[in-house]
Amino acid sequence: MKETSIVEFVRDIYQTNDFIPLHAPTFNGNEKAYVMETLDSTFVSSVGKFVDDFEKKIEEYTGSAKAVATVNGTAALHAALYMAGVKQGDLVITQALTFVATCNALHHMGAEPIFVDVSPVSLGLCPKAVDEYLNEYAEQTEAGCVHKTTGQRIQAVVPMHTFGHPVELDELLAVCLKWNITLVEDAAESLGSFYKGRHTGTIGDFGAVSFNGNKVITTGGGGMVLCKTLELGQRTKHITTTAKVPHPYEFFHDEAGFNYRMPNLNAALGCAQMEVLENYLEKKRRLADAYKAFFEKSEFKFVVEPEYAQSNYWLNAIICPDKQSREGMLSVTNAAGVMTRPIWQLMHRLPMFKNAMRGDLSYSEFIEAHLINIPSTPVSFVSK
Ligand SMILES: *Cc1c(COP(=O)(O)O)cnc(C)c1O
Repeated sequence: MKETSIVEFVRDIYQTNDFIPLHAPTFNGNEKAYVMETLDSTFVSSVGKFVDDFEKKIEEYTGSAKAVATVNGTAALHAALYMAGVKQGDLVITQALTFVATCNALHHMGAEPIFVDVSPVSLGLCPKAVDEYLNEYAEQTEAGCVHKTTGQRIQAVVPMHTFGHPVELDELLAVCLKWNITLVEDAAESLGSFYKGRHTGTIGDFGAVSFNGNKVITTGGGGMVLCKTLELGQRTKHITTTAKVPHPYEFFHDEAGFNYRMPNLNAALGCAQMEVLENYLEKKRRLADAYKAFFEKSEFKFVVEPEYAQSNYWLNAIICPDKQSREGMLSVTNAAGVMTRPIWQLMHRLPMFKNAMRGDLSYSEFIEAHLINIPSTPVSFVSK
């Protein structure tokens, strides 16, 4: 397959000769009206009805017992890890194949990552690999699950639903229960993705969603913590809003909280974007189907959702047969104004995580060397 035929195919879908980004936001609904409403009301900051509305909309859509809006997805993850009891010196099992925010959040809790391989089924954390790692290196003690070599507590497992494709959650949850470790889902990329009918981010004790500008829907910047129970949700709300004990005028804070509350201005955008989410998801599914058909007979393997899941197809991806074809594809498409991008470099290659403990990462390394993302903005088109 010629790289130029891909450029043609993508241009035909998006019907433009301009630059085609990987994922751009669109505002064709009530965004302007709701944002103007916050300006007129002067409630642009941390108090206002859109924050509550947005949280309710997310709860209804995801089935989460309580959703807590935050300033961004990294903050949501940070708060979720705090709530999961991750402490200074703890270990957190996660994937090396992720965006840096996953690791930054646990790093800022004073914890260290343990990198475990991803599964070919989901491109997310592999339950079997986690169990194998724990069998070799962990032991159960009164203090919880502990690393045999260092004595550090292994407090959380954080899978990431790569590009929106849900990880094998039943199996992962079983491993977490067996080892007495808390499951926290990095669902930053997977709003609109369901695992066996349940929304991602609601199976673990906590899930973190992102509404950054490049995600499925956006609030400019923003995030959401999905909490398993109302009680956990109320505590999460408390610690993300400076841990102030409610009182008409006294300032009393009962712990060192975060100021992570999403401003009303951003939540207004979120409410409008939630109204179009279903429409975006339909368009993204049709786009993914078109790509799948296009790459069917080529040497490039289009990444599809696992059979147990319904993915939001946040970022479409292809796996190139070798490094050379990957380079060819990246240079030809980008030179032609069709944006494509290699997947993130593995986390242990970054200076701050280079000494992190890790298991075998062969499949992560394979994906790192072969995968590229292709344009994924929701678009109306007539497939031929
Ligand atoms: C986008 C993203 C985040 C964090 O989101 P921000 O809102 O940009 O802070 C976290 N993890 C993953 C995997 C992401 O893709």
